Parts: sequence; structure tokens; C-alpha cells
Amino acid sequence: MATFHQDSRRVYRVRELDHLDWLEHGFGTRAAGEWVDSGVVSLRQVHSAVCHRVAEVPPRPPTGDALLSSTPGLLLAVRTADCLPILIVDERLRAVAAVHAGWRGSAEAVSSRAVQAMAEEFGSRPEDLHVTLGPGICGGCYEVGAEVARRFAAWIPQLAEVAGPVRLDLAEVNRLQLVEAGVAPSRIYQGAFCTCCGGAEFCSYRRERSGAGRMLSVVGITRR
Ligand SMILES: [Zn+2]
Repeated sequence: MATFHQDSRRVYRVRELDHLDWLEHGFGTRAAGEWVDSGVVSLRQVHSAVCHRVAEVPPRPPTGDALLSSTPGLLLAVRTADCLPILIVDERLRAVAAVHAGWRGSAEAVSSRAVQAMAEEFGSRPEDLHVTLGPGICGGCYEVGAEVARRFAAWIPQLAEVAGPVRLDLAEVNRLQLVEAGVAPSRIYQGAFCTCCGGAEFCSYRRERSGAGRMLSVVGITRR
């Protein structure tokens, strides 16, 4: 379990990344709102495993669920309310990625796709990455049907045989996928958050339905 702390903007940061003075990162809560302003790149999120490398703010948000960059001054943002926000940092090469992982994206292994894309685009080595899993819905709150559950049997074998609804731990699925992609388990940081049972601090689609807002998670390089 990593150590998260909240700053004055009501943004959660992880202590394991605080020593990187060239990095901006954080997981916004409901109260943090739009806590960054300029240089922000967002996505038109579609629950895919599509990754985009960006070097400037594009005229329109690209369609996909992961953003990668090594350009200083750009902030990569994903928006979530129960889905898992994942921030990836290559400490050696100064490259970053922001990932939106719901069940559909996780079934397509979007987080490990982002690790592969960082290798292809920047030459990132998985063992140099720090990966932080932000506030998402917990394994106790997230019930899915058997058909959905069976799509995760490659990572959680006992899901292969389920016949009815079961609880799915999206963070654990992503953790297993990241380890499979070569990320060191000691560099995967998780909190004890749940957006659904964790209270009003968080936006939760399960709890609030169509009234749910979205929380902004951001990662970026401030200088090379
Ligand atoms: Zn929960």
C-alpha cells in the first residue's frame, strides 16, 4: 500500500513520486474540480485500449483511453467516476502516461498496452516505470455479470467458471496485467480508496448514476 497525501487543492499525490521535482501528478477529488488550467490534453474516452502520443495540445481531444508524452509543459488528463485512473511515470527517460481503465478497457489490457506503447514510442523499460492506481471502485462494490467476469479469467483463473454475478476488483486486475507487462510489483502504488463506498469526497457513477461528476487525474513533465 502506497502513501497518498492530499494537497491544498484536494488532490491526492503519492509520496513515492514526490522526489521527482520535474513531475506534476495528482488524482483530483470532487472538490478539486478542474484543478489544472493550461496545457491540458484530454481524451474522448470510449472504454478502449487505444493509446495516443501527444506533443502539443491537439485542436480536439483524441478518441481513446490512454495518453503518452515526453514533452515538458503538457498535462495529460483522464476523467473518472468509479473507473480506475492510472498514471505511469518513466523516471529514467522522463516520459509519462495517463490511462482510463474501466472494465472494457481493462478487459483489453489498456494499462499494459500503455506500457508497451511507452516502450515503442520512447524506449521505456517496464522496470523503470512507476505506476500509480488512483481512486476507483473497490472489489467489494463492483458487481459484474458472469459474461463480463469471464473476460478476466486470463488474469484471475477462478473467474473462468462463474455462472452468476460476481465482484470484480479492477485495481487487482490492472495490477496483475502491469506485472505481466514487466512492471516491478514494488513500483505499483495503490491506495485504499473506493469511489463508491468511500463517501462523498469521490464522484461515483454506481452511487450517483447520471448525476455523477467526473474527477480529473493528471500527469505531466514540467521540465526535461
Ligand atoms: Zn467500495
